[in-house]
Amino acid sequence: MNSGSGPGQIQRIAATAAHTRAQTAYRVYLDHSVECTACRTEPLPCAEGRRLAEVWKTARREAR
Ligand SMILES: [Zn+2]
Repeated sequence: MNSGSGPGQIQRIAATAAHTRAQTAYRVYLDHSVECTACRTEPLPCAEGRRLAEVWKTARREAR
């Protein structure tokens, strides 16, 4: 069975991969903000929290 070949299929796979990356990045960011004392107690996230937020934002842009 080979009903889904061609450039369209490759684009769909790429979009799904980008979406999965964005979801994973969000989970990592969320886990950090829960586990990191600085991110939990300070009004602004720590350097690592900000980095993870950037990774998530970038991945989310690519997932569109
Ligand atoms: Zn943190």
